[in-house]
Amino acid sequence: MAHLNQPFRLFYIGNRFGRIAAAATKGFNVTHEQVKAPAVPRFLGPAVEGPPSQRASGVLEAFPERAAIFEQRMAGLDKSIDPAVRGWVVESAKLLERVFPDVAEYLEATARAVGVDYLAMQASYFSYVGLSARAEEVEGVDDPEGCSTAAGVLADGGAWLVKNRDTPGWMMDSQSVIEHRDPSWGGAAVVGVSSVGGSMAGSSGINSHGLASVSTSIVGRLGEPGIARAHLQDALLARCETVDEALEIIRSIQHVGGTMTLVDATGTVAAVELSPSGAVIERKQATGGVARTNHYVQSENSTFAIIDPVRLENSSSRLESMECVVDETELDAPWPEVLGSLRSRMATHDGPGAQCRHGAAVVTVSTTIYRSRPPTMFTSDGPGCSSPWVAWSVGESA
Ligand SMILES: [Zn+2]
Repeated sequence: MAHLNQPFRLFYIGNRFGRIAAAATKGFNVTHEQVKAPAVPRFLGPAVEGPPSQRASGVLEAFPERAAIFEQRMAGLDKSIDPAVRGWVVESAKLLERVFPDVAEYLEATARAVGVDYLAMQASYFSYVGLSARAEEVEGVDDPEGCSTAAGVLADGGAWLVKNRDTPGWMMDSQSVIEHRDPSWGGAAVVGVSSVGGSMAGSSGINSHGLASVSTSIVGRLGEPGIARAHLQDALLARCETVDEALEIIRSIQHVGGTMTLVDATGTVAAVELSPSGAVIERKQATGGVARTNHYVQSENSTFAIIDPVRLENSSSRLESMECVVDETELDAPWPEVLGSLRSRMATHDGPGAQCRHGAAVVTVSTTIYRSRPPTMFTSDGPGCSSPWVAWSVGESA
């Protein structure tokens, strides 16, 4: 393969964010070979405990090398937010502060710890939104690949949930899996898959009640100021025990865009399509499943998404594959069989809808499988096809 010895191209979408990513990868000439398969999981940190600000600095301290990558990335951040969108970023940050102050505190503490402007850091979370307010600038997507997710009900009363996290390869060296405990959670814990410097469960996570959540990006236009899906995910895992509790919060707030899929220990499954025009929910109980990639399936009326034909074709092929994963996962199969089948299905490389991605710009940096009852996480440090896996059971503290 010709690209093996080439540095990774950058995936960040759009104008200013290309520069952020370029700053981040300077000096990190990551090649496909290097990111393919770490020998042992390197992304596991010790548990962090305390209020949000303490947990945020705990994560940075737990991963000094990964925190250095984040610091370098932030050092290159353009602090002069485009005046046309500065107001939008300010209003969205205010909204986060008002609705989920704990999530805002966590992010503010991270910004303080690395000495970066909080608003500029906030702006960087919205790289999938046309923050320039000029849609055409986010239409020129470098690489069409994105994340693949699915979930389904199990006959034992619980549910399964899976995500292949597809990102630029350099993000493999930023990834983190870490357990959080907060005095305000009444003994509950959250295990999040994220990037060091990002939110608690930026990619996905599960709490000790068995509520688990994964999300995917959708490239879209600037709408009303809203809550980013990664921040929403943190808030739900910190607050809720069930999917229905989470849906109540989701219905009550203003969103940006993307999808979120949730499962819980009662065997409820829901896929949520988030956009500035609201949340469209597909909910299953007792039977069935859902799948989402990087386009809306049900939000026909949303004017948020920017439809890039190449990206849509890639996303649609992966969605078809994920729907097969749902169809082929037996409701009453024993758990080891479900786990084995999900692991092998998420590691396939066949055809345009292959779940395991080894693209020039985008790599599956982890496969994560959740079981809601008992609350358990299985995750790979690198592409699921060729990387070490770890299992993590998520318990309440005594
Ligand atoms: Zn693979």
